[in-house]
Amino acid sequence: MPELPEMETYKLLLQPLIGGQAVTGATINREKSINIPAEQFTSLVTNQKIKGIERRAKYLVFRLQNGSCLLLHLMLGGRMFFGKEEDRPDRTVQVQLSFENHHLYFTGLRLGYLHLLSLEMIQQEFQHIGPEPLDQHFSFHTFENILKDRKGGLKTTLLNQEVIAGIGNRYSDEILWHAQLLPERKINELDHDDLVRLYKSIQYILQQGIQQGGYMEEPLFKGDLKTGGYDMYVHSHEGENCRRCHSTIVMKEISSRKAYFCQSCQH
Ligand SMILES: [Zn+2]
Repeated sequence: MPELPEMETYKLLLQPLIGGQAVTGATINREKSINIPAEQFTSLVTNQKIKGIERRAKYLVFRLQNGSCLLLHLMLGGRMFFGKEEDRPDRTVQVQLSFENHHLYFTGLRLGYLHLLSLEMIQQEFQHIGPEPLDQHFSFHTFENILKDRKGGLKTTLLNQEVIAGIGNRYSDEILWHAQLLPERKINELDHDDLVRLYKSIQYILQQGIQQGGYMEEPLFKGDLKTGGYDMYVHSHEGENCRRCHSTIVMKEISSRKAYFCQSCQH
């Protein structure tokens, strides 16, 4: 599932492509991917300019000229492609937004969705989501306060969207490897130095993920060299050598999620 760096990459790349552009049409092939009848959806978004694109946690919000918003969550397997009809990948398209002869294709939306909502409804959707880890107000002090009184394991805590926004199964492994902490360590057992390292690793890994274009394998548009440049340190690298200490990376299921880590240099 795309996480903060992937959605931020999509946002940054889409802004110059569709920002300020008017939607000239919409095609809905799967009604379950939207929240209102297809005809109504199409007429409400058509002729609306995309005023801005924002990211919150793993969501993108397309702000429309009339004040309403499109809320996108790709969930597992969802992805986007922007381009002309002849360039689009050979995948089933669930929703398509057209910008004259270019289109934004949403594919793989089985659990994912694109909902047309008011700004108030979006704010309500976001009310239980924790702080953005790359926000300038997310200080070490804030981080320490959030984790105070928590007792869970590190990986499980990082995955909890109500604690911190945008971190999922892949980047939680990357962050914990970088901080040299084991995924099952308990939050309340960490000392001050561990916490500082964890805080710094969250920011470092997520920023690196964004700079390198996240892990999504398919390009957003023809000639896109940015998307998918991030090379995971440990996630999905079971049996390979740890890049820090050369021991073997292991995989273990923790609360039914696969966790990849190095038993020798993570403590
Ligand atoms: Zn190692």
